[in-house]
Amino acid sequence: MSDQQFFHEGALVAVLTAQPIDRFLDYKAPCGGCMAGAFVEVPLGPRKVIGVVWGAGKGGFDLKKARSIIRVLDVAPMRGELQGFLKRAAAYTMTPLSLMLRLATRAPGLGDSPMMRKVYRLGAGEPDRVTDARRRVIKALGDYGGLAFTLGELAEVAGVTSSVIKGLVKQGVVVEENSPRDLPYPPLEPDFSSVDLTPDQADVVAVMRSDVASGTYGTSLLKGVTGSGKTEVYLEAVAECLKQGRQALVLLPEIALTAEFLKRVEARFGAKPGEWHSGVTMTERRRLWKMAGEGAVQLVVGARSALFLPFRDLGLVVVDEEHDTSYKQEEGVLYNARDMVVLRASLCSAQVVLASATPSLETWANAEAGKYKRLELTARYGAAVMPELRAIDLRNENIPMGRWISPTLRDAVAARVAQGEQAMLFINRRGYAPTTVCRACGHQIGCDHCDARMVEHRLQKRLMCHQDGETKPMPEVCPSCEVAGKLAAVGPGVERLAEEVAALFPEARVAVLSSDLFGSARALKEQIEKIAAGGCDIIIGTQMVAKGHNFPLLTLVGVVDADLGLQGSDMRAAERTFQLMRQVSGRAGRVEKKGLALLQTTQPDHPVIRAILSGDEESFWQAEAREREAAGVPPYGRMAGIILSCEDAAVVFDLAADMARRDGPLRAISAQVFGPAPAPISRVRGRHRVRLLIKADKGVALQGAIKAWVAQFRVPNSVRVAIDIDPQSFL
Ligand code: ADP
Repeated sequence: MSDQQFFHEGALVAVLTAQPIDRFLDYKAPCGGCMAGAFVEVPLGPRKVIGVVWGAGKGGFDLKKARSIIRVLDVAPMRGELQGFLKRAAAYTMTPLSLMLRLATRAPGLGDSPMMRKVYRLGAGEPDRVTDARRRVIKALGDYGGLAFTLGELAEVAGVTSSVIKGLVKQGVVVEENSPRDLPYPPLEPDFSSVDLTPDQADVVAVMRSDVASGTYGTSLLKGVTGSGKTEVYLEAVAECLKQGRQALVLLPEIALTAEFLKRVEARFGAKPGEWHSGVTMTERRRLWKMAGEGAVQLVVGARSALFLPFRDLGLVVVDEEHDTSYKQEEGVLYNARDMVVLRASLCSAQVVLASATPSLETWANAEAGKYKRLELTARYGAAVMPELRAIDLRNENIPMGRWISPTLRDAVAARVAQGEQAMLFINRRGYAPTTVCRACGHQIGCDHCDARMVEHRLQKRLMCHQDGETKPMPEVCPSCEVAGKLAAVGPGVERLAEEVAALFPEARVAVLSSDLFGSARALKEQIEKIAAGGCDIIIGTQMVAKGHNFPLLTLVGVVDADLGLQGSDMRAAERTFQLMRQVSGRAGRVEKKGLALLQTTQPDHPVIRAILSGDEESFWQAEAREREAAGVPPYGRMAGIILSCEDAAVVFDLAADMARRDGPLRAISAQVFGPAPAPISRVRGRHRVRLLIKADKGVALQGAIKAWVAQFRVPNSVRVAIDIDPQSFL
């Protein structure tokens, strides 16, 4: 797998395509020959598809029958490092290589030639008539903040036909321009502007800089409370990487963060980095993909899939908020971006920085074991101090039915607002109420396609399933007993909490932050900016508010239900609750004023709540680590989930039972199989789901054993088998 290997015209080469065929296909090298790693277009049946020349062909058939590669695409060939990474990642996650290639080529139009093209932007004209379709076009152009679209992209994003857009072009509302494709990104200046580091920060930066300058692989945990300057510090590592002439990648957990973050990067390096996430136009994605390969983008800021970009020379990867669960891809190819980053970095001699205020137990344990370096920032930057944390014991509070804010919390909020400060109320439940119950017959409205309860979203007047996204209008009568007017909302959601706040604080300006309330990333960004500038008094939010935003006026955080999440069968429940609560409470008092975090709980003596309140993180990790070690579960043992799903419950249960019985290959490595059990959400989109859980010792060759085990069974076409190595969610 050398980068230099060249194949002359007519030589047989093995091509990997992203089609669901799990083997290499042999083709003849085209006129002019091709390199190993070249991206090519090949005929496949009647179609033309894109693939990568992986190496020499195998042959073993009549060479006259071999077809020729149609052409070599005008993009940088895939480097040996990326080929190697995809192979290792495929083996680790037990995914066909072709699917890994698909992850690495998720940029449309790679085969297009790099010439001029027409793009569309918002113009100055006014439309003669405003129709719904026209409004959508204008909104789409506005939402993306002046980015240009191609005709096809704009039509798709706005959900209109191209004639609507052409009509707007005639009136000058939208302008059509010629634009060269795929320009390099503006250069970043490592020393454009930097801050004076505190001695603490300077120590950490010195270590990071020398690690990056060494040009070798290594992983560090950068641990520090929110506001301690982790971002400031890792941007210094990025600066060093740029100086070395290598590329850097910063992974962030959520789109919501990137807008704020990009500004900060621009202020630090004098130009915008490349941006990679689902909110970026296809044109921009293709540009970034190509420029990554040509080394014409120095820094990429992106969501987890950015780790598959074809970087020419990746020298540093930062995984910010490394404990965040969104790094685990839970559909399609099941992979954990954090772990894959470490794998890729080890293959391309890059440094990894895993940054968090509350690291995952996996990372904490790797640092304890000395596999990762541990770098720590202990104090908040500047005058900001850690907030004071207190519990409100709900057993002593008098809260009326259907209300969730205790008198103590109410008074605390009122006091802060009276002083012109901001208060935040946190509840980790979207929608109005988690359950809708009929008071006539007791029926709870469930999803028609899975086992989850439907959640009322009152603003949209719909019921929504948070498991599979199914929605339906709020019924007038009970679907079971057909009595009208008896459906009642049970339990709190963020929308319902907003109602309560409006009633308690009629004068206050209230902002609600929940991922489903914003039509676009831009609208959300505007709301966040408004809050930061003091445009509201009380912020009500879900998980989304826990992540990174900087609200200088915020001095009080109230956690409405700190017990939520302590229950449940997930082995990570305690860890997650701990992380989330620490993060949320870390929001308070980020600038000068001392913050206060109040946790409403009925279990103030629960070990997790106690650890949160005392701020004694090390003893929390140690206790948690001891429990996991005793149970032989990750990170001290290995696990894999096997989820079988099928529309026919009997078929899937029979197969799963058979698999649990014939476990020879697993027993051979002393692994145990648990189950079959219905998966916690046992029906999703009409398919019944059954789960087997495999537990093994740390050092065993788990993937090989699973492969041999699964190969024993004839799996009917109607059954889907998903293998989840290192499962995170137990759904
Ligand atoms: P974290 O990533 O740990 O939450 P940040 O890097 O975002 O922390 O720092 C918190 C705030 O403090 C930011 O506004 C940042 O610009 C500021 N800050 C941190 N360190 C310094 C420094 N040495 N000089 C000036 N401002 C700093």
